[in-house]
Amino acid sequence: MQTFSAHIVIVGGGAAGMCAALGARQHLRQCGIGDEHVQIVILERNARLGIKIRISGGGKCNISHDGDMMSVLEKGFLRPQERRFLKPSFFALTNRQVVEWLHQHGVATYTRPNGRIFPLSGKATDVLSVFESMLREHRITVFTNALVRDVERQESHFLVHLDDTVFQAQAVIIATGGVSYSKTGTTGDGLRFAAKLGHRIVKPRAALAPIYLTPSPPAELVGISLRAVKLIAKSASHTATRVDDVLITHLGISGPATLSLSREVAEALENSPVEMFIDFFPALSPDDLELLLCRMQHERATQFLRTFLEEKLPNAFVPFLLDAAGVEYEQKWSHLKKEHRRKLLQVLKAYLLGVVKEVPLERGEVSAGGVALSDINPKTMESRLVPNFYVAGEALDIAGEVGGFNLQGAYSTGWLAGVSAAQKIQSGLHETLIQNFRTNVE
Ligand SMILES: Cc1cc2nc3c(=O)[nH]c(=O)nc-3n(C[C@H](O)[C@H](O)[C@H](O)COP(=O)(O)OP(=O)(O)OC[C@H]3O[C@@H](n4cnc5c(N)ncnc54)[C@H](O)[C@@H]3O)c2cc1C
Repeated sequence: MQTFSAHIVIVGGGAAGMCAALGARQHLRQCGIGDEHVQIVILERNARLGIKIRISGGGKCNISHDGDMMSVLEKGFLRPQERRFLKPSFFALTNRQVVEWLHQHGVATYTRPNGRIFPLSGKATDVLSVFESMLREHRITVFTNALVRDVERQESHFLVHLDDTVFQAQAVIIATGGVSYSKTGTTGDGLRFAAKLGHRIVKPRAALAPIYLTPSPPAELVGISLRAVKLIAKSASHTATRVDDVLITHLGISGPATLSLSREVAEALENSPVEMFIDFFPALSPDDLELLLCRMQHERATQFLRTFLEEKLPNAFVPFLLDAAGVEYEQKWSHLKKEHRRKLLQVLKAYLLGVVKEVPLERGEVSAGGVALSDINPKTMESRLVPNFYVAGEALDIAGEVGGFNLQGAYSTGWLAGVSAAQKIQSGLHETLIQNFRTNVE
């Protein structure tokens, strides 16, 4: 068994872990502490760092989100307690700073009209290369193929156990990510380490995930993208909605509205069945839509009803909507009975897609749940229970929307954890220097 010692050991080399290392070193350099005096180590189980950055945004990497940090928090994190928790870290390391790093290293970026920031090259690997260069510039020691098995607390330090190596560390930063896409290395190890040291773990749940339905959608509808519809999830006690695009898949639904709603659906599903509906006319109230249907009946009396629907909706959906409303496919407006018009109105405002079968945790772009926010100080990312133990990134009980928010959450919380750990190491170094000085004088 080999034994190494380091001042700061970071478990996990994703966005949070890499930024933790950079934050720590930058703080120490600003305080005039030479790199040789403080060892900062990243332990990453994979053969390379940052696998999630590499696969992010379909290989294009939605790096972050544009705007001032308050608006980024508002748009990206829908739960007030998460916004409150993230605020200090989001101001410690901003989106602008991350983009500036990329520009300084020759990676140009562009911002889409919806605020999402991407590398101009469209290559996530360019983003990752910048982080890797910065780690070298900041003299961070990186061990890859280094699977951490356990983190043990001793009186004055931690022991970080690998299979054949032990690291003795003054501070440990857990940056092991969430639990989805487990093949990338995120198997929830950090949650286990934190739980063993007494931290509360909020049960991991799916977020930004597809939703599987019973029955699964008919083959004719698979692949259809519904633009700007309202997706409605209804359970016995809860109704949640999102207005955005919905993609019909062979197992259920995906696309922006689904991903955004999936966390609430996964939570609701634990208590009761959840049904998913589509409102095809979210901009119209039921009364306004009824008026429109009445007008059509009047103005287009000799036309087929389906022609109107085909103008507004993907054609493949029309037979299913007519069937659900009990209206003949060849129905003309002139012969439409009032009760059928009412039923059609109901179907257009709340078409039942199916009952939720599963919200697959493994398939979520992130996972909600993780180390409870109440156990972590948001101003430092240090545990409130175990001094010198820090948690950052997706290992925390946070989950943002699609749009670059989750990577920003990982950079910012990681950075703050690194800076805070370095501050404590720095004050420890000062005390040692003063003690040595006193001993020499005496
Ligand atoms: C397909 C996909 C696309 C995404 N696209 C985007 C996007 O475009 N924009 C965006 O903002 N977010 C995106 N996300 C989410 C984003 O990638 C994550 O939220 C973010 O990477 C989390 O960073 P992290 O550092 O906390 O964790 P991770 O990036 O998951 O890093 C954790 C690291 O810890 C390592 N590790 C785990 N356990 C151990 C152990 N025991 N010992 C040693 N190492 C360990 C893992 O191997 C991993 O490298 C996407 C996610 C997925 C899955």
